[in-house]
Amino acid sequence: MAIEYDTESTRLTPAFASEDPSGYKASLLNKHGAIDGGRLGMVYEKVLASGMLKVENIVIDPSTPRCKIVDGAGGFQLTLGVLDIEEQERQTMIFEHERFTGEDGIVYKFNHELSHFIIGFLSEISDDFNSLYRLTFDSRSKGRGGFHMKGNQPKYKNQNKPFVYESREDIVELVNMYLLEPDYLKRFLDFLVDPASAQVRASGHLATLSRRQADHFFNTIDTAVKEWLRS
Ligand SMILES: [Zn+2]
Repeated sequence: MAIEYDTESTRLTPAFASEDPSGYKASLLNKHGAIDGGRLGMVYEKVLASGMLKVENIVIDPSTPRCKIVDGAGGFQLTLGVLDIEEQERQTMIFEHERFTGEDGIVYKFNHELSHFIIGFLSEISDDFNSLYRLTFDSRSKGRGGFHMKGNQPKYKNQNKPFVYESREDIVELVNMYLLEPDYLKRFLDFLVDPASAQVRASGHLATLSRRQADHFFNTIDTAVKEWLRS
């Protein structure tokens, strides 16, 4: 599938999304696709090529900051709420949150939703990647904390499946960070290791990793994504 990416895309404002949702969507795909010399465009096209997501099933919702994926009769529908996540929530949910407002916030959210599909592909091709999920689940179920604050959001708590959605959300977010910028994931993993950040981690219910574990997480995601992109 050939998609032309344009770095000079129109500003992605909530007003634009209300007036012209399809124009907004095209601009968002351009902007997302152009990041880092087209690397994210490749990722997006690969998700489309899998048939799991159709471009017409990406829906722009100008009335909310929330995003969701729903499995319906016409396949998965990805709804992208374009409003900024409230600052207080952003602080508790996103690492280096001050960077992710406006257009960068939208790209972040869109890529997060894409990552929900991508973790499925990575699990299929990499046992090592699957083991990251188990490590996360173990850590959460033993009370040692999550591997990202995203999974700590109350909406992922489910009495019937304790720690399942929380752990999945952690892994989705780690993959999202890597895809956005590998160094961004590295900085976050450094934060999980850094003794000086122990207090912040404890109050945020986050796990502490050894240097070796952090490197293992990074290398496993790096290898699995590269392998998936080659496949
Ligand atoms: Zn999610």
